[in-house]
Amino acid sequence: MPAKFSYYMPTKLFFGKGSLNRLKKIKLPGTKAFLVTGGSSTTRLGYVDRVVALLKEKGVETVIFNKVLPNPNHAHVNEGAQIIRQEGCDFLIGIGGGSSVDSAKAMAMAAVNPGDCWQYIFGGEKIKNKPLPVIAIPTTAGTGTEADPWTVITNEQTNEKIGFGGDLFYPAISIVDCELMMSVPPFLTACQGFDALFHAVEGYIAKIASPISDMFALKSIQLIGENLARAVENGDDEEARGNVAMASTISGIVESLSCCTSEHAMEHAMSAFYPKLTHGAGLIIISAAYHSHLAKALPQRYIDMAKALGKKDAQDPMDFVQALVQLQKDCGVEQLKMSDYGIKKEDAARFADNAYETGGSMISADRAPVTKEDMIRIYEASFR
Ligand SMILES: [Zn+2]
Repeated sequence: MPAKFSYYMPTKLFFGKGSLNRLKKIKLPGTKAFLVTGGSSTTRLGYVDRVVALLKEKGVETVIFNKVLPNPNHAHVNEGAQIIRQEGCDFLIGIGGGSSVDSAKAMAMAAVNPGDCWQYIFGGEKIKNKPLPVIAIPTTAGTGTEADPWTVITNEQTNEKIGFGGDLFYPAISIVDCELMMSVPPFLTACQGFDALFHAVEGYIAKIASPISDMFALKSIQLIGENLARAVENGDDEEARGNVAMASTISGIVESLSCCTSEHAMEHAMSAFYPKLTHGAGLIIISAAYHSHLAKALPQRYIDMAKALGKKDAQDPMDFVQALVQLQKDCGVEQLKMSDYGIKKEDAARFADNAYETGGSMISADRAPVTKEDMIRIYEASFR
């Protein structure tokens, strides 16, 4: 008997080289745009100007907010929301890495709901008004936020990094154009690609995985296995870049249908205390110990994933961990260390506390238990 599941993916998605030009043709969800971006590379590479020009051709004015940080913070969300209200913008464009798109999603909610956004993100207060529509234009391949209803926001005062969202947070339109990703440097290409991989992996081992999410998850794992090292080695390899971009978007769909597990909660705790730690790097650092912990409890799932990642003759769940470590070597990221980011071994206990306090549904999605004590062991085993 097939498992019960539901499927809801309301985002209109345009994928492929050159698809940014779609902005000229598609029906926009409003008349005055608020463009949210990190400001450096998207401006330097001319993407912001291109979007503004494409909108102008359609008579749509754009207000630019260009100070999103790598870990988007709640103060900026409140600030953006206020400008949206003052300027009368009626839709948002998030262009850049996941942080820009996530910020746009959160600002779209905060602009039409009273008070500090944190009361909705962490305080559990019910959203009163439907968020403004968002167009997501990712320029990196990793978060999959263009195809999911989640946003991750940090409160720097309280060291809380929270994943938040729901059906109202799907982008109205997403444009995934791998031409915009060609200049991402090798290290970031690797970190973001591994983030996409773990969205698929965690979605596959999560308790709420379904036949549909499984299908997408295994396809994404396969695409990453076949293409990520190529994209890292040669950033001009359009085919590899395109396939990694597709994997990232497919992983976003996995996050819509299934969800992340405690691995993501554990990483969010690390980068909440050490904001300079790139999300993907944090995941890479703990991944071998984390998946070694779970592999034996979920043997068939891990054998399936090992095969998808390229170890076609896999018979042992630990084959997945071997394939994972090999991919990290092939991408030049196997030597990443917590100590490079200032993390101390003694941080393990407070990381585990934080992961449990803020992890919510990611912790309860674990199919086999990962206790606080297990987390401490995983952090300590990963420490170098
Ligand atoms: Zn992630």
